[in-house]
Amino acid sequence: MSERKVRVRFAPSPTGALHIGGVRTALYNYLYARQHGGDMILRIEDTDSHRFVPGAEAYIIESLEWLGIRFDEGVSYGGQYGPYRQSERKHIYRQYVDRLLEAGKAYIAFDTPAELEEKRKEIPNFQYDASTRMQMRNSLTMPAGEVEERIASGEQYVVRMKIEPGEDIKVNDLIRGEVTINSSILDDKVLYKSADNLPTYHLANIVDDHLMEVSHVIRGEEWLPSAPLHVLLYRALGWEDTMPRFAHLPLLLKPDGNGKLSKRDGDRLGFPVFPLEWKDPKTGDISSGYRESGYLPEAVVNFLALLGWNPGNDQEIMSMQELVDLFSLERCSRSGAKFDYEKGKWFNHKYIQEKSNEELAGLFLPELEAHGIDAPMEKVVKVVAVMKSRVNFVKELWGQSSFFFVAPESYDEKTVKKRWKEDSAAQLTELAGVLAAVEDFDQVESTENTVKAWIERQGYHLGNIMNAFRLALVGESKGPQMFDLTAVLGKEETLRRLYKAIETLG
Ligand code: GLU
Repeated sequence: MSERKVRVRFAPSPTGALHIGGVRTALYNYLYARQHGGDMILRIEDTDSHRFVPGAEAYIIESLEWLGIRFDEGVSYGGQYGPYRQSERKHIYRQYVDRLLEAGKAYIAFDTPAELEEKRKEIPNFQYDASTRMQMRNSLTMPAGEVEERIASGEQYVVRMKIEPGEDIKVNDLIRGEVTINSSILDDKVLYKSADNLPTYHLANIVDDHLMEVSHVIRGEEWLPSAPLHVLLYRALGWEDTMPRFAHLPLLLKPDGNGKLSKRDGDRLGFPVFPLEWKDPKTGDISSGYRESGYLPEAVVNFLALLGWNPGNDQEIMSMQELVDLFSLERCSRSGAKFDYEKGKWFNHKYIQEKSNEELAGLFLPELEAHGIDAPMEKVVKVVAVMKSRVNFVKELWGQSSFFFVAPESYDEKTVKKRWKEDSAAQLTELAGVLAAVEDFDQVESTENTVKAWIERQGYHLGNIMNAFRLALVGESKGPQMFDLTAVLGKEETLRRLYKAIETLG
């Protein structure tokens, strides 16, 4: 068989915000497609109208755009295999339902929900399958004429897959190898409902993968139990030769490794499980998002890429292009990946350090404006250069550096007690004189040398001077290296703050 063109799809159902696990699935599909020069398709699987949530589709598209995960085809992208929204493909599916019925691979069933409920009570562990189907109301137990009459009279029905028991079904998975499941454990899944004239997920998914010439199905582990049915469907429809290769990705686990990561874990432990902030249209509840929490998209991508895959060495920082080059399904793990949120912050920290000071300053400006600060860009760039190594998020810059923009109004009492000595006022007055003679405050090292030389000459205590100096400029005992601080404040402001402290603290 000649090599097929790689065509992968991300096929979310618009049932709410896209979970971070879904984002990882989209990312792995993207990496695989790009690496193989293939196509990446966005298909919206919206055949279940009961679970449809308005706004979810737009949310999914915006989330992936933010992260730089682009599609070649699909909803909002267009393409030759459209439409890409399953609700717009209604007219396509019915012929395949008929094909399965004609071949005896599927049958029509009239059992009402109440009747099914009855059976569940009557038969312990009831399953609609070879062991029970002959006791039910369907086209296998009714004369053909009756079936036709019922349909003609408008009675609702479903079409079920007829699964022959006792067969070992093999699913070849690129991550898990050959997985064998015996057909006896499967039930006769509903493929189609007359009530809304729509196929269920299983049939629509297979038909569309086939028609869209999908070569690889890369999706979450929760879909592995559906894979044997999917293999049977490909066979029943005569599409075995072009069946896509499967790859089922490991689950994302709670940070402690106990069970699947859920939305509630995020709420409980205080981290986002959604890419963007999401407002539930029904309840109005707001869930936090990575974007609004201050994550850089590159950091989120890098973090997610390593949840379930590794490059085979200990390299951790990788750009999208590097990920494209290095990714491989064979290196995806089979066991679940613990969602280590602290690691996510670490990635953000790393990516902040890689950004230029100018770019970070640009991101910091709105925060400054929100605090009523109108500072020249040049100064903001300097502050960022000195302080960025201390933050995981741009929004933490304000807490770390507000004193650069706002002179202390008062002085922290505890620090004053500890750091402001009897002779501090006199010594700082002298220091002000020394600094007044320094020409260029930007020359951090030479300013420092000048001051230290003066301290030595006078036989003063270095620590005492520096602590009081810091208290005068910052109002407490925090902040960067002393002469980084004076360089950013400049001579005028440094002297102003010194005199103010001397006057206030005496
Ligand atoms: N619509 C399914 C979902 O919401 C797609 C599963 C698949 O990729 O086959 O995840």
